[in-house]
Amino acid sequence: MTIGWHFDNTYSKLSNKFKEEIKPMPVHDPELIIMNNELAKNLNLDFSKIDKKKIAEIFSGNLLPEGTNTIAQAYAGHQFGHFTMLGDGRAVLLGEHLTNKNNRFDIQFKGSGRTSFSRDGDGRAALGPMLREYIISEAIHSLNIPTTRSLAVVKTGEKVVRENLLQGAILTRVASSHLRVGTFQYIAATQNIENLNTLIDYTIDRHYPEIKSSKTKALDLLNLVMEKQCQLVVDWMRVGFIHGVMNTDNVAISGETIDYGPCAFMDQYNPKTVFSSIDKFGRYAYTNQPPITKWNLARFAECLIPLIDKNEETSVKIATDLIDNFQNIYEEKWLNMMRDKLGLFGEDISDKKLINDLFNWMEKNKVDYTNTFCHLMGVKINDNEYKNDNFLEWSNKWKKRSGLNNSSKEKQIELMKKTNPIVIPRNHKVEEALTEADKGNLEKINKLIAILKNPYGDQKGIEEYQAPAPISNKKYQTFCGT
Ligand code: AMP
Ligand code: MG
Repeated sequence: MTIGWHFDNTYSKLSNKFKEEIKPMPVHDPELIIMNNELAKNLNLDFSKIDKKKIAEIFSGNLLPEGTNTIAQAYAGHQFGHFTMLGDGRAVLLGEHLTNKNNRFDIQFKGSGRTSFSRDGDGRAALGPMLREYIISEAIHSLNIPTTRSLAVVKTGEKVVRENLLQGAILTRVASSHLRVGTFQYIAATQNIENLNTLIDYTIDRHYPEIKSSKTKALDLLNLVMEKQCQLVVDWMRVGFIHGVMNTDNVAISGETIDYGPCAFMDQYNPKTVFSSIDKFGRYAYTNQPPITKWNLARFAECLIPLIDKNEETSVKIATDLIDNFQNIYEEKWLNMMRDKLGLFGEDISDKKLINDLFNWMEKNKVDYTNTFCHLMGVKINDNEYKNDNFLEWSNKWKKRSGLNNSSKEKQIELMKKTNPIVIPRNHKVEEALTEADKGNLEKINKLIAILKNPYGDQKGIEEYQAPAPISNKKYQTFCGT
């Protein structure tokens, strides 16, 4: 019975400076919890004729598919601003699977046991955080935002020790690669130019073949990664996503969202929103995400300095000028994205003020970010908050500006519906689904995942998933899940 795996591993052929060869640790009693059949199909994989027990053996690492060459990847990272040598401490890359169209995807286990990069960690993961990554990464994908995907979650049948004893689990993650800013930082820290060149060529081959024969590869790469990261953070801002740990080891060179830890979606609009329990100073708060992206790109640029120009001073100047331009690129993209959210065509000099006035109103009145845009595009939600004089005044200005659209109302709504989700993974619904799944009841998580697959469509009977969390005096907090 063939599943359709087609491994063609290139990263494992790089020198041992880049990785460690290691097998996932076998687990006691694997049980399949979730399988992403749609994603499997897109990867030209077919598990329909394989029984659940065997699928669990595969996605736990007890039964490795043919052609895998398992490794843990080396990387470093600035964690909350502090540089550390890291690496896959609880992840193992099975290899690179090629689809029928020759698209290359990393297949990685998360929670598969210790590696030489584990430091004090146990190399394991708990069920809750792995299911959380599954829910949120798939939701981000359906929101049309670049991201790693989730193929399966299995329970290991073993306990992991955290503050409490938790059920162990392994997530199978699919990514266009796991190259990170931190991968470059790791190699740059060893000051081996040959390896740095290898990494650049490898990255360009895999993600940016259009600059393969460029004479200014390092600079072009920096430019392209900046473009991707800039677009990514604009998308996060659009849907109110807060990544939570934007350390440089969690920034993918491909421009995909990666490493779902304490991430969550903003409900009430507040630019300072932080959910992560470890982010004490709000370094990764909603509104800090763009400047932090720029900061992370500057760390990426530093790695490339030796290869931008022979003269270090010139190199620094070129890279600095490029990174300094981030703000301009971001602001323009952001403004256009906000115009889309409001269904505004063309440009008017008062657009920025109109947008900021809405943000100020939302913040002052503590209204829900997602639902405000639902209200504007006529999606039925509880709309008491919008029967407010200040809002009506703003709304009149918005309608006046919409009159300059040179387009129909239908076209305006069409644009808004493509840009504004009617449903996001609400924190309380995610928690509810995870609590039930931990008890072995998968009904809620499956329903949540199904609803989140279609955030821009017309769905009936999902009011419960659209409503903000019931008022509570307990602040929602997320944890790293390590
Ligand atoms: P993360 O917070 O998932 O981005 O991980 C940061 C670093 O800590 C990475 O190098 C991980 O591999 C490592 N790490 C996280 N959890 C564990 C764990 N349970 N055991 C070993 N290493 C871990
Ligand atoms: Mg990480």
